[in-house]
Amino acid sequence: MIAEVIVDIVHSDVDKIFDYACDETVCAGMRVVVPFGRGTATGFVMRIKQTSDFPAEKLKKIIRAEERFPALTEECLSLARRLAARYLCPQALVLRLFLPAEMRTGKVGEVYRTTAVLAKDDVPLPANATAQRALVSFLRDNAEADAALLREKFGGALKALADKGVVRLEKRRVLRAPYREAETLAPERELTRAQEEAVERIRSTDKTVTLVHGVTGSGKTEIYLALIAEQLRMGRTAIFLVPEISLTPQMLAQLRARFGTSAAILHSGLSAGERYDEWRRLREGEAKIAVGARSAVFAPVEHLGIIVIDEEHDGSYRSESSPRYHTFDIALLRAEYHRCKLVLGSATPSIETYRRAEAGEFQLLSLPERINRRPMPAVEIVDMRQEVRRGNPSPFSAVLREKLARCLEKGNQAILFLNRRGYSQTVICRDCGYVAKCEHCDVSLTYHSEDDCLKCHYCGARYRMPPACPVCGGIHINYVGMGTQRVVGELKKLYPAARILRMDNDTTNGKEGHLRILKSFSAREADLLVGTQMVAKGHDFPFVTLVGILDADMSLHFPDYRSGERTFQLVTQVAGRSGRAEETGEVVLQTYDPENYILRFAAKYDYEGFYRHEIAMREATAFPPFAKIVRVMVTGTDDKEALAALREVYEKLKALYAEESECFLFFNRMHAPIRRIQDKYRYQVLMRLTDEKPLARIYGICAEAEFRHTLVYVEENPANLS
Ligand code: ADP
Ligand code: ZN
Repeated sequence: MIAEVIVDIVHSDVDKIFDYACDETVCAGMRVVVPFGRGTATGFVMRIKQTSDFPAEKLKKIIRAEERFPALTEECLSLARRLAARYLCPQALVLRLFLPAEMRTGKVGEVYRTTAVLAKDDVPLPANATAQRALVSFLRDNAEADAALLREKFGGALKALADKGVVRLEKRRVLRAPYREAETLAPERELTRAQEEAVERIRSTDKTVTLVHGVTGSGKTEIYLALIAEQLRMGRTAIFLVPEISLTPQMLAQLRARFGTSAAILHSGLSAGERYDEWRRLREGEAKIAVGARSAVFAPVEHLGIIVIDEEHDGSYRSESSPRYHTFDIALLRAEYHRCKLVLGSATPSIETYRRAEAGEFQLLSLPERINRRPMPAVEIVDMRQEVRRGNPSPFSAVLREKLARCLEKGNQAILFLNRRGYSQTVICRDCGYVAKCEHCDVSLTYHSEDDCLKCHYCGARYRMPPACPVCGGIHINYVGMGTQRVVGELKKLYPAARILRMDNDTTNGKEGHLRILKSFSAREADLLVGTQMVAKGHDFPFVTLVGILDADMSLHFPDYRSGERTFQLVTQVAGRSGRAEETGEVVLQTYDPENYILRFAAKYDYEGFYRHEIAMREATAFPPFAKIVRVMVTGTDDKEALAALREVYEKLKALYAEESECFLFFNRMHAPIRRIQDKYRYQVLMRLTDEKPLARIYGICAEAEFRHTLVYVEENPANLS
């Protein structure tokens, strides 16, 4: 037999099928070790065939299989082929997406446990060997048992029986399942009428995709869980995708409580071993539900019955490394393969998704009310220009301070949202105007008061805070713009008794990360939570009755066609954290631009109104979904080479543009807005396409561009144009 093998080396020269001889223990999807070049390499068996075009005597043999089971299913293999063709990247790179990284590096610690099994039931035992008799009878009832447990119960009898061959001891692999603590299973909840109806409509539609557009707190999660439970009962499996940050203790506990260890939870907080074991549990069918962030869309489940993408609009669903896939596209391919449903949920669907739903491509379901008709929290827009005029220099308006005081008095909790971490945005010398900048990136540095240093938010570099301006020696330093640290400092001054937690990239490092902070806030160990957009997502804190959005303009004026959409989403999501239980919530939205239509729509929770306005504008200006933005990025540490690469790629793209100009709305070469990040120079060719026809050739041009120190890649409708 012959195995077609792709070697696990990412290089265009070896990105092809190699034939190897093999025996019948090898099957498609297995990882194998093969002779390669002068050494060996790991590879993936893509197909088994009977004959090769290669002369049989020259055919090398597969050395061994890495595992006894095929790590990749037939579906994975066919999906991998399609993705490699779509994104024009080496197949090995795509195949790796389907495996836990730990598997490839071979660095997973395995845990074993010894199990005792009754081997021979008919060996006569001496009458006085009571312990041995009791053990045999125990095993008759239980078929098998953990050896450690038996030793504890029956002492030396276990060894005696093992020596006689009555009991056989087997070493077995144990698969760890994290978050086992919530072992008490919770029953399914009774659905509300609206939820019941949504479930029924998803069940009965002939469309593959359903968009559930439900306001925050409308009970979307319960709809997903009901649909998943139904598939499980029918013997099928499920994939439940959430933004990484939504894998909160509450969500995990809720899933474990409902599904026990049928749910495998894949997220970055797990240890390598835990992640590998969860993957194995899915691959072996012991676990039926894959829960996780973006990468869980590649979960190795078979007989897929449903895929759910919660918070569908979230930016984390786009991959930022090659292949730059959108999770939805992969999910759709898998749903079509398995003929199962794909459910998208959001309170603020992305404009692209909503348009497809509106056009009838997806089924559109609306849940306009919260569970038990709880009112949406009232949003008060506060004009910060007036605060400045009144001589209030603090980050909190008078209205917000008053509401904060009342909230604390009542013993409730509040969330303050600000999209900037650190102490100040920039540090400027008041005498000469010097701005502290990163040596490796073309960006200004942020002051962090806790460790009294300057940090680069792009590469993480840290700098000592200079005692005086390095240019003019002046000592009048201005801290411009508020960050979360400074807000916490100001709050401490205003409310010395309040317990304050901060959640941003600086406080969520480490394995536990944000889980610890959310747990603590959830347990009411703090009164106030100050944070960046991390606090906005999906959390359900029943005692939060006030949300303050300190600087709504921050994301509004981001130079990006999506800034309006992102602001609307952010405001709605943050506001949605308020008043989720008995007490009605409030939201204070501070802005220097109170007439802004996006903020106005957001304050009224008018998604439809916002959508109409936004889609009309996108159409008038020919931005997505009416055109596709394609950016070819050229980045490298050697500026000369990067420029040469840019020139080469640009010339080819220009020829393509000349040939197919009717597909292009815009074509331009320039520096990327941030010219250097982490010592890499950045150039771009920016295009806007009205027709995707040239896309494959754009990928082709970039795949051909091979330089030593320069990376060339394509981004489609990038989430971030910096
Ligand atoms: P969403 O995901 O739409 O923001 P959630 O699923 O978090 O909403 O539900 C909001 C709140 O309503 C949660 O506290 C949840 O426990 C509760 N809830 C959801 N469904 C039901 C139900 N059928 N009966 C009672 N409470 C429910
Ligand atoms: Zn930097």
